[in-house]
Amino acid sequence: MRLGAFISAVAIVASLHAPLKAQEVPVYDIPETNPVYFFHRIGDPQEQFTISPEQLREHLDCLRENGYGLVTFKEYMTQEFSAIEGKRPAVLTFDDAWLSQFRYRGSTIDPDSAIGILESYKQQYPDFRVTATFFVSTAPSRNPAWHDAVFGQRGKEALKLEYLIGNGYEIGAHGYDHESMRGMTPGQVRENLECFLTVMDRYLPGYPIESFAYPYGFYPSPEGDAVVKEFFSYSAGVWGIPAPLGRQWRVQRIEITPDNHLDACPPKILDEPVLEPVPGSSSQLPFREKPF
Ligand SMILES: [Zn+2]
Repeated sequence: MRLGAFISAVAIVASLHAPLKAQEVPVYDIPETNPVYFFHRIGDPQEQFTISPEQLREHLDCLRENGYGLVTFKEYMTQEFSAIEGKRPAVLTFDDAWLSQFRYRGSTIDPDSAIGILESYKQQYPDFRVTATFFVSTAPSRNPAWHDAVFGQRGKEALKLEYLIGNGYEIGAHGYDHESMRGMTPGQVRENLECFLTVMDRYLPGYPIESFAYPYGFYPSPEGDAVVKEFFSYSAGVWGIPAPLGRQWRVQRIEITPDNHLDACPPKILDEPVLEPVPGSSSQLPFREKPF
């Protein structure tokens, strides 16, 4: 489904929920839909969830040319936009810590990996603020269908993570081993997140992880979700549904694919903001049963 059609479908689903009362509608500094995008791999767009290096550059061009500046996910959730004064905020997030997001070739960063592209763009357009949030699972090798290290190069995990925070990027959590939390007990959620943080603390001692993206976009039970909220301050879903800023701790994201990478820019404008349903409510948001 194309993004526009998808957003329309979501708006219809969302409109089935109880209408917002006037006092519940937040004041928006940003009237558009959430320009919070998520990416997976950079490379051959014939592969699933993969956009080409050129498509990522085109996406950056589109945001820059339409008056956007980039902020981290945390900055977006806290409306900390001082770094992009006069611009509209947009967020790039990268999930799963794939090799193609951050690849070293020898001691050089691959210019066609996401970080290579972003850093090059930063040099090329110094007036365009470049940053992103990387949602990382710290034990990808526990999943046999997954990759064998954070950002795919064993032994370089800490080097890459340190580079990211040293160059203005945010590291967020994406679970320990990317296991879906949908069926987890609250105790299992806690164990998963404690394991994540234990490993992350080895790579980045003392670095505060404040943002979280649900693996596969699947939410645990409300009790499990309460545990997630004990650990992190802000969370990201995976659907292109706008959610109010500063009122809730979760915001939905728009997946960028080879087919929609320019459809999503500039962001579509909906008639009115739509609140995300509260987990455990009777809402029936669709889920896609595919790994991402
Ligand atoms: Zn993921």
